[in-house]
Amino acid sequence: MNLRQLFLQHVAQTSTAPLAIEVVKAEGSTLWDASGKTYIDLIGGISVANVGHRHPAVVEAIRRQTDAYLHVMVYGEFVQSPQVQYAHKLTEHLPASLNSVYFTNSGAEAVEGAMKLAKRATGRTEIVAFNYSYHGSTQGALSIIGDEYWRNAYRPLLPGVHHCRYNDFEMLQQIGPQTACVIAETVQAEAGVKAPSREWMQALRQRCTETGTLLVLDEIQAGFGRTGKLWGFEHFGIVPDILLFGKALGGGLPLGAFVADKALMQHLADNPVLGHITTFGGHPLCCAAGLAAFEALLAENIVATVAEKEALLRRLLVHPQIKALHLFGLWAAVEFEDFATCKKIIDAAIERGLITDWFLFASNCLRISPPLTTTIEELERACAIILECIDL
Ligand code: PMP
Repeated sequence: MNLRQLFLQHVAQTSTAPLAIEVVKAEGSTLWDASGKTYIDLIGGISVANVGHRHPAVVEAIRRQTDAYLHVMVYGEFVQSPQVQYAHKLTEHLPASLNSVYFTNSGAEAVEGAMKLAKRATGRTEIVAFNYSYHGSTQGALSIIGDEYWRNAYRPLLPGVHHCRYNDFEMLQQIGPQTACVIAETVQAEAGVKAPSREWMQALRQRCTETGTLLVLDEIQAGFGRTGKLWGFEHFGIVPDILLFGKALGGGLPLGAFVADKALMQHLADNPVLGHITTFGGHPLCCAAGLAAFEALLAENIVATVAEKEALLRRLLVHPQIKALHLFGLWAAVEFEDFATCKKIIDAAIERGLITDWFLFASNCLRISPPLTTTIEELERACAIILECIDL
């Protein structure tokens, strides 16, 4: 059997039609397959490779850490320099109230940790979440995602979860003295890059404050410059109580985090002690890689290049078959009539050396979330391929 056949046989499949590109190398915004064909990666491993694949500083940081130590102890016991340095660096670039970082292995685990912290800190049991939100695939995270098709087969799920309309003022009344937290994506990713209004975000913040409810913002896709600002919440003039990171946080290695004020986070150390446990969360290799990626993002002023690239996409992605372009930073959902149209374009683009995708809750939309380092020329070429594929 060749590698592709072994992949289908022995690597657990959750799709009947995996892309099955046999990748042999990735660098910057380019992927190579086993036949030597190159692809422009217009999705960056789904919003992970914000500083590009295999950024030299990330590779070097991984090498250095490999020479020092790998796993040495479960989370939070030993002083591990990459973890400490990264937590310190992140909090230097966050509002003063977001000063304590709990590192996890994944985005979903960050979501789980935040839900637990909110319940423990408030003594309340209910959670408000939103229709068409995505927060992960573990049972807690699955309970709060906003689409019944994806949830239904796995019931029973967590009780006390209320799903509301995003960007809707009436829903604010659903938040009350029983609500432990509201969990929202700062910009809804899998709904097809849907940003709320500044007014609604501010009203949501205010309602949470009035009712003693914690506001949790999921920036697992929106963070690290994707929206054109370092953090998505900066667009709305608010600060969450708990902030969730994943994806680009690890610079290409698995890492998630929930971030809060030290006084809030302290609840996890008391009754019960060790209120949230992880063996590998904050792994030194992942933190070293993540820190190097974050430092590169800042030092190379990458976020400042996003506005120009956003404007380029807005200018180039015009076609009668494009129903709408949902764009926020270097992040877009190109809306077509239906899934069949969208999928035809995705497949034809892959043949022509361009990798895109669709969205979980918006399968008629083509996903664009490339490395933020993708050049103007690469973006022009990518847009030309998309337009060519629409016309097939
Ligand atoms: N929240 C959002 C907004 C996400 O996009 C994702 C992953 N697609 C998650 C949470 C879950 O992250 P992970 O897959 O690392 O568990």
